[in-house]
Amino acid sequence: MKIEKYQWKNIRATTLFGLALLFMACNPKTEAQVEKTAETVEAQKPKNFVIIFADDLGYGDLSSFGHPTIRTPHLDQMASEGQKWTNFYVGASVCTPSRAALMTGRLPVRNGMTSNVNRVLFPDSHNGLPQTEVTIAEQMKKAGYTTAAIGKWHLGHKEEYLPTSHGFDSYFGIPYSNDMDNVIPFRSPGGYFSFWKSEERKDINTFNVPLMRNTEIIERPADQHTITKRYTEEAIKFINENKEKPFFLYLAHNLPHVPLFASKEFEGNSPRGLYGDTVEEIDHGVGQVLDALKAAGLDKNTLVVFTSDNGPWLLMNQEGGSAGLLRNGKGSTWEGGMREPTIFWAPGSIKPAIITDIGSTMDLFTTFSNMVGVPIPSDRVMDGVDLDPVLFEEKESARKDMFYYRGDRLFAVRVGEYKAHFITQEPYEQEVTQHETPLLYNLNIDPSEKFDIAAEHPEIIQKIRAVVEQHNAKLVKGPDMLKDRG
Ligand code: MG
Repeated sequence: MKIEKYQWKNIRATTLFGLALLFMACNPKTEAQVEKTAETVEAQKPKNFVIIFADDLGYGDLSSFGHPTIRTPHLDQMASEGQKWTNFYVGASVCTPSRAALMTGRLPVRNGMTSNVNRVLFPDSHNGLPQTEVTIAEQMKKAGYTTAAIGKWHLGHKEEYLPTSHGFDSYFGIPYSNDMDNVIPFRSPGGYFSFWKSEERKDINTFNVPLMRNTEIIERPADQHTITKRYTEEAIKFINENKEKPFFLYLAHNLPHVPLFASKEFEGNSPRGLYGDTVEEIDHGVGQVLDALKAAGLDKNTLVVFTSDNGPWLLMNQEGGSAGLLRNGKGSTWEGGMREPTIFWAPGSIKPAIITDIGSTMDLFTTFSNMVGVPIPSDRVMDGVDLDPVLFEEKESARKDMFYYRGDRLFAVRVGEYKAHFITQEPYEQEVTQHETPLLYNLNIDPSEKFDIAAEHPEIIQKIRAVVEQHNAKLVKGPDMLKDRG
């Protein structure tokens, strides 16, 4: 019988396939081997955690996120070696609620850390983050971690609300914003803007903010010229003192929140002016922290996350930052208020990538808790997802939506690439606009939220309304922790 050429090919292919099956049958992967592979993946994951949080840094303020004159070589390198997230959100557009969201993995409306009366906590505020909340630091403590908070806290300055009462072994920092405890009123004479252009604004004595170690005030006013540098030094000291055991470090810079201050080495250097000086000093500090991790042999064993608490303070004109191509800034529920330049770095376990999936600071609670094997609280509604599959397995983010609150009211919702605004308001004005038909934007096509497509897509609005209904069904608002002052 004559065998045609194509038949030989088939016979060869069938034989090879059969041999492969035979080989697999003779060499089955044992359960132990499967487990071992999973174990190896687990073993390679970082064991230490560092969050570096800037204050009022805009989406467009790093060179790797498009700023033409601010030089951030260390953050840029971090972004090129790790994951650069372009759709990463904070839980609110101003300091206190945003920080509460990061710490608790919950929308601040659930624990009362947001308010329609005062948008943030002040030095005369009575309350802070309730003890009934579980913080990310408390989760790490349950896993035996050493924990430190360095920098701005802004979740209550009384002893029962300080970091040392919320899961941190130690605290060093200014407990609220660096423009507080002002000794002359901002609004007079000559109004808000004239103050920010005045000579007094350049004097650290104008802002009588305390610097604390644990629960004691050690310096007042804090020397803000050297504050970024000193926070960095504290961070490095903490890393070196704890290199033998697992640690969680929360390094929350007070800058580039106005008033801007930089140390002598940085002041006057940046082509972007004083704002650029402060960002470049933070960038330098990030480089030093990463170098300290490398020197301690911990760079392959540490996950470092860099982001900011809210968008740029545009009201401050040239002293405020930039949201780049995003609309508006701090205080608003437009993208510029809540989308932040974000980097995840863990050389050896995170492969370099640009991630366009949605993530949030609220996801860090869930992700870190799962990584250290501590259960997520089941007695309350949590708002985080586990980012582990995106970070370590090149899979999709489980987060598909984002809720944009102002105070205790839901202003906008993102579902997939679409965002609907039900209410809009300028960041620092009283007028509120309710939209019977919400404004609708496709954020992939139109990240600047310029082109309202609501009329063309009623079905998408319907879908987003259904998500809002589901969200509202589980919503219990916490008592307002920010309203009582004086
Ligand atoms: Mg802020």
